[in-house]
Amino acid sequence: MKIAVYPGSFDPVTNGHLDIIRRAARIFDTVIVAVFYNSSKKCAFSIDERMDMLRTATKDIDNVIIDSSDNLLVHYMENNDVKVIIKGLRMVSDFEYEFQMALANHQQNKDIETLFMMTASEYSHLSSSLVRELATYGGNLIGLVPNDVIPYVYEKLQPKK
Ligand code: ADP
Repeated sequence: MKIAVYPGSFDPVTNGHLDIIRRAARIFDTVIVAVFYNSSKKCAFSIDERMDMLRTATKDIDNVIIDSSDNLLVHYMENNDVKVIIKGLRMVSDFEYEFQMALANHQQNKDIETLFMMTASEYSHLSSSLVRELATYGGNLIGLVPNDVIPYVYEKLQPKK
């Protein structure tokens, strides 16, 4: 069985993330989308909320599992017997950090490979932080976040009138 993990903060999941998930799900038998606790990011949504949004966004994709972890990614993979990490790449600015992480993870465990998928051009500018910023000021999220996820985002971030 070919299994891959797609790790991230998903604070919240965007259509850019979902595009990577759908494409990875066509290549692997199972894709585990894992919300990782990241001490260097201050997140707007709790881990449970982020998992709920991911479950909603991926409900029509049979071979996707939503999980979370506060372990080191390499340890999570060893515990779950997964060897492949999927990462999305948007711009050159993503490359430096992702390159460093891929080398570090491979150094920790030589069996682990990182596969990079290029963003679809329509999502190359899209990030969770852009979505949070727009939502806070009541901006239009259609096309940026899966439609079923939009109410969760407004509920949490849009200032009440
Ligand atoms: P961010 O907060 O920057 O949106 P995450 O930590 O949630 O990022 O991202 C998880 C993974 O998804 C990373 O590999 C990231 O590069 C990738 N990703 C994020 N946004 C996009 C996008 N618009 N297109 C493709 N990949 C993306």
